[in-house]
Amino acid sequence: MSTAIHEVRLPLTGGCVCGQLRYDLTGAPLLAYACHCHNCQKRSGSAYALTVVIRRADLRVMGVVDAQRAHDLSGRELEHSFCPKCRGRVWVHAIAAPDYASLRAGTFDDTGWIVPIAQAWVESALPWAVMPGVKVAPPEGLDFYALGEEWRASAPRFVAEEASAPIRSA
Ligand SMILES: [Zn+2]
Ligand SMILES: [Zn+2]
Repeated sequence: MSTAIHEVRLPLTGGCVCGQLRYDLTGAPLLAYACHCHNCQKRSGSAYALTVVIRRADLRVMGVVDAQRAHDLSGRELEHSFCPKCRGRVWVHAIAAPDYASLRAGTFDDTGWIVPIAQAWVESALPWAVMPGVKVAPPEGLDFYALGEEWRASAPRFVAEEASAPIRSA
């Protein structure tokens, strides 16, 4: 897969479907991947979930957040964060890895830059939904470190908005 987007401005903005829960992402995303597991299919109501991994320190949240703990299919304990009004799930993080979170890719206001570099749980994928040319993760899971390196090599350049951008005169 290729993308025509080479530069993305930070902060990236997003939120739930009703707009009560909003976020700014101030740092570059670490990678994007698709998960075809049954849990992601059920939660998304679709063929797979598209996820953007971020540092939680880069996430500035506005609005009321509800959280719910659950185990994933590998037995890890997760905390899902969602909007109490529309119940839209916005991100999830593993209790054992509190510094990172997985944002639901579709919650970004602009999703045009998001290209998955890996896909997990293809054994439970809808056959047509397995993306050609996108790395298939082994059953033991994603190697986030190696994928992060690949992401940095292929992802758009994330550029922080200048805090003191010069004011252009008309
Ligand atoms: Zn909402
Ligand atoms: Zn999944």
